[in-house]
Amino acid sequence: MNGLQPENAGVGDIGGNAEERFRALAYDTALSTLVAVAVYVVVKVSLDGFRQWRARISVLIVGSGPVGLTAALVAVRSGKVLKLTVLDERHRNALLCRPQQIALDPRSVKFLLRLGVDFDNMEGCWHNEHFFTRIGVFQEYLLSILEQKKLKVDVKVQLGTKVEPSY
Ligand SMILES: Cc1cc2nc3c(=O)[nH]c(=O)nc-3n(C[C@H](O)[C@H](O)[C@H](O)COP(=O)(O)OP(=O)(O)OC[C@H]3O[C@@H](n4cnc5c(N)ncnc54)[C@H](O)[C@@H]3O)c2cc1C
Repeated sequence: MNGLQPENAGVGDIGGNAEERFRALAYDTALSTLVAVAVYVVVKVSLDGFRQWRARISVLIVGSGPVGLTAALVAVRSGKVLKLTVLDERHRNALLCRPQQIALDPRSVKFLLRLGVDFDNMEGCWHNEHFFTRIGVFQEYLLSILEQKKLKVDVKVQLGTKVEPSY
């Protein structure tokens, strides 16, 4: 009887050791899988960020009329622009004192709303779903939005600068 006890105890030990080794192996496998996934995520996010940063471009817009300034807004909001330069041959006063009216149709209004234009904070009036304002008011408003974007994108507005085409 006594002779069997150590033998039984030995079998128990072997079983216990095997279970412990199995647990340790499972733990190691789970840990290494977790580390591999974390490394993959960190490398992928860094590479994507680097690729996006490298893909960013410099944009030059000639003309700060409604079209040029709207294009500038689209560019800064795209997230793909590193540096944006907007030029106009008119000086600020001449640009913003333009008296003629512009009428923005519903499609343009919808488009501009998506770009962050807040018509409630712009001088003008509504008629038949069209927004009417002075061109200078509209330009000044878009210029103020561009100013706010300077924190994220290197925006330069150079008024009084004429671009001479070179043929
Ligand atoms: C008298 C008048 C009345 C109008 N009335 C209405 C109306 O009632 N309703 C309406 O919806 N629209 C009206 N318009 C039209 C409206 O003004 C235009 O639709 C609008 O200005 C077009 O915008 P844009 O950005 O294409 O051009 P613009 O507003 O002409 O802007 C172009 C800008 O580019 C600059 N520029 C040009 N060449 C150079 C260069 N080589 N280097 C640097 N800068 C340059 C110019 O100085 C200008 O500021 C009117 C226009 C006029 C002239």
